[in-house]
Amino acid sequence: MKCYNHHDRDAFGICTVCGKGLCLECMNDKNSVITCNDKKCINRIKRIKLWRTFLYIVLVALLLFLIFD
Ligand SMILES: [Zn+2]
Ligand SMILES: [Zn+2]
Repeated sequence: MKCYNHHDRDAFGICTVCGKGLCLECMNDKNSVITCNDKKCINRIKRIKLWRTFLYIVLVALLLFLIFD
């Protein structure tokens, strides 16, 4: 697979959101998940991460509630 933006470079990763092939330069892993530099993809991951954090907090709160009941 080749990079979506650089057709002469091999892809090192794939965007988790849109599935584009990405070379090292085009890869964005700031959110601990590989995405392309497309704003749409980055925002999608950020939203998913936010939800995950929220669910985690709810789960921990629920566990604490059960333990200290
Ligand atoms: Zn993408
Ligand atoms: Zn590239």
